[in-house]
Amino acid sequence: IVREEMDATGAQELLMPGVQPAELWQQSKRWEEYGPELLRLTDRHDRKFCLGPTHEEIITDLARRDIRSYKQLPVNFYQIQTKFRDEIRPRFGVMRAREFLMKDAYSFHLDPASLEDTYQKMHDAYSRIFTRTGLTFRAVRADAGNIGGSTNHEFHVIAESGEDHIAYSDSGDYASNVETAEASPPLRKRDAPSTAMQRVDTPSQHTIEDVSNFLGVRVGQCVKTLVVAASNGGLIALVLRGDHTLNAIKAQKLEQIAQPLRFADEKEIRTALGCGTGSIGPIGIELPLVVDHSAAVLSDFICGANKDGCHLTGANWGRDTGEPETADIRNVVSGDPDPKGDGTLAIARGIEVGHIFQLGTKYSEAMGANCLNQKGQAVTLHMGCYGIGISRVVAAAIEQHNDERGIIWPTPIAPFQVAIAPINMHKSERLREAIERLYASLCDAGLEVLLDDRKERPGVIFADLELMGIPHRLALGDRGLDKGTIEYRARNSDQTEEIPITDLVDFIQAKISSWEPVS
Ligand code: ATP
Ligand code: MG
Repeated sequence: IVREEMDATGAQELLMPGVQPAELWQQSKRWEEYGPELLRLTDRHDRKFCLGPTHEEIITDLARRDIRSYKQLPVNFYQIQTKFRDEIRPRFGVMRAREFLMKDAYSFHLDPASLEDTYQKMHDAYSRIFTRTGLTFRAVRADAGNIGGSTNHEFHVIAESGEDHIAYSDSGDYASNVETAEASPPLRKRDAPSTAMQRVDTPSQHTIEDVSNFLGVRVGQCVKTLVVAASNGGLIALVLRGDHTLNAIKAQKLEQIAQPLRFADEKEIRTALGCGTGSIGPIGIELPLVVDHSAAVLSDFICGANKDGCHLTGANWGRDTGEPETADIRNVVSGDPDPKGDGTLAIARGIEVGHIFQLGTKYSEAMGANCLNQKGQAVTLHMGCYGIGISRVVAAAIEQHNDERGIIWPTPIAPFQVAIAPINMHKSERLREAIERLYASLCDAGLEVLLDDRKERPGVIFADLELMGIPHRLALGDRGLDKGTIEYRARNSDQTEEIPITDLVDFIQAKISSWEPVS
């Protein structure tokens, strides 16, 4: 499916080396930047290499050698190949493996408009690919991570077990990974203070929940204060409403905050503030502050008193401390307003199966990939890259389609479309012959057929075929052979049907062509 759709866009398939020379990665600066996920090795001549986790460097090297003129553009190369990433926590089999199969494509362009055009074509091709696999998916805006570039979208298979949280509008087309989803500042103004600020003892109340229970107030009436490294080498305090969580990706994009985000440890906090992590608060704190928009509209709020075992009640911005500097630093939650429309956001869990990027000139500039434009001037190539986690799609499909008996493959990506379960075939030569003929006729019709010819009891065979999730199952014994019928059952149904053996090929083909995803 992936190859057909890529070819249909005019992309050209090639195969790049899996072992890549360090020099190329040094030119792009990623030899230093990529970190321990990059598995590095040395050959017998002491030259350094890495196992390819992705192929921007290799393809940019190819492009700078081979692309001379605008007449060769735009061009899009792809491969389906093993990648290696020394993942810190490989898990769930092929969901996050160190060695996995990826389809990766890289396009080159004379200008940003051409890049945007191909990017849109890839977006459309990915939508067709995941639609054809029969999976329920969403395309969302996302963070570019260490690949770089500006505009990018992830494709997620929606599944309860997904690692990512996807925010999407219930009425508009806004959809984003929660990593990058914007929280609109509240429209309502802050209420005026109505009580005096007081210091209260909150012995051994460490978490926001502890404090709100202890004082009998809503968690959302408390603020929490987190201390992180600032970009100037010092520390900076971030303030959030008690029921909200910090969004590290958004926070570390702020100029004042060090990237990557680093939380101050207990010792640094005690040295700077004289209290433990559970008692920090924005009032009278001797650190610069960034306050989330939602926390900045609270009045009469509860916060740590910067003294162990103490909190403040009735605290107010403007009165008890200066007007805070505000920013969007929290994760959106279900029910937040759609930042681009009138609706509200819902949150679903997703498994990232694809990611497309407009890289711009990040790699071509660093590696000197340019070509001559219509005026004969040398210009830097613009670049896009587009990945699909082929092996992860398999794991994601299983997460989305299963029951207590095992996998239920969507027909388009099932390893076999049809399974034949013979009933006691090893006791009947005539049944064996009939089964072999049936198998051959289904294969001849172009179907992908699994024949379970093990010497197992029918119950074992049925259970194993259900576990493996082959969408269409046929069972035949001597009795059926006498009647000239075969028993059919779909993996996603509890009904069996008796089908005349002579109609079988047409019957199965009709089932396969009428297959539709269940949403
Ligand atoms: P993740 O955030 O899950 O680590 P990524 O952002 O590092 O993914 P990309 O660099 O965009 O992933 O790679 C393209 C695709 O390859 C991803 O969308 C994903 O489907 C797949 N992929 C990435 N890492 C793995 C892995 N360790 N095992 C299986 N598939 C993976
Ligand atoms: Mg990764």
